[in-house]
Amino acid sequence: MIQAKGYAAQTAVSELAPWAFERREVGNHDVQFDILYCGICHSDIHQVRDEWGGSIFPMVPGHELVGKVVKVGAHVTKFKVGDLAGVGCMVDSCRDCECCKDGLEQFCASGASMTYNGYEQDKKTPTYGGYSNTFVANEKYVLHVSEKLSLAAVAPLLCAGITTYSPLRHWKVGKGHKLAVLGLGGLGHMAVKFGVAFGAEVTVLSTSPAKEQDAKKLGAQKFVVTSDKAQLQSVQGYFDFILDTVSAEHDLSLYLSLLKHSGTHICVGAPSTPAQVHAFSLIMGRKSLAGSLIGGITETQEMLDYCAEHNIVSDIELIDIQNVATAYERMLKGDVRYRFVIDMASL
Ligand code: NAP
Ligand code: ZN
Ligand code: ZN
Repeated sequence: MIQAKGYAAQTAVSELAPWAFERREVGNHDVQFDILYCGICHSDIHQVRDEWGGSIFPMVPGHELVGKVVKVGAHVTKFKVGDLAGVGCMVDSCRDCECCKDGLEQFCASGASMTYNGYEQDKKTPTYGGYSNTFVANEKYVLHVSEKLSLAAVAPLLCAGITTYSPLRHWKVGKGHKLAVLGLGGLGHMAVKFGVAFGAEVTVLSTSPAKEQDAKKLGAQKFVVTSDKAQLQSVQGYFDFILDTVSAEHDLSLYLSLLKHSGTHICVGAPSTPAQVHAFSLIMGRKSLAGSLIGGITETQEMLDYCAEHNIVSDIELIDIQNVATAYERMLKGDVRYRFVIDMASL
């Protein structure tokens, strides 16, 4: 076994703290890379605090990992020692069901192996995430990362990037569309970047008036403070799509009223409590309420290549791992500009 170290939560109410654990030896099809940077996703907070239920402890969070390959298995063809590598939210899946064959491994019928807070495909070996020094995964689930971009700022693409890229591609959002991005945090700021790159007119709907300048710098044409009734009124029936990245309970019916007829509200944010929606909010105007989960492995590589080609990275605040609790507190207050990334050299 490989001796690894990281930060783990021992229970849903304990702080993250240093923890030593083991990872598997590098198998024939495995890649081992030393983690250089790991982004902090709001899903880390939900899971560390067991807000979705079923959390597995001890938990080493982190599913936005990038680093340098230090060892490859005998049959590995995709990577060599010294290459940059990234891992997102998944490390394996059955590879045989319809979803896996369609490149939608995140919906694997028998359950994808999530990068942490999950189990390997044997359904009993726990997975440990990226708040740690080194990682081992099957090469199929490891992504190539461009040498051209700032590596720390690439890390968030592995979750925040693909989670916003994938639905915008699926619903073919682009020129001629009015896109609202609800919530300007880690996912939201990537959604603005992609929406603008794909040619849509982007509006940010935010609870934080102080983020207006940033939203405009990111390329948004409009900024609407959602607590301001007059501002909300000005965009009634306006949008073709809303990409909802909000992490906490919010009133979907309120936002559905901002859609044009036949518009689509896409949930990617995952609050811990269920939302209430009146059927009339959908019936009137033939509106759709939809959702999306990260993206498949091929699409994740496509997104990383697209970002390299178009020079797209995340706007980050680099922190030492000792400050992770403060980063969580700031995210809970909506005070993130716009992704915290852990510099693993601090471990
Ligand atoms: P984040 O960086 O903390 O951003 C969330 C943003 O939502 C905040 O910055 C804030 O933006 C807004 N917000 C927070 N509380 C709100 C409230 N009560 N009402 C309205 N707006 C509120 O979080 P993130 O990392 O982007 O993740 C967002 C959500 O997506 C989380 O629930 C996470 O678990 C989920 N997620 C889902 C997937 C998927 O595959 N579907 C993948 C990754 C993450 P403003 O200040 O602009 O209002
Ligand atoms: Zn995430
Ligand atoms: Zn499958």
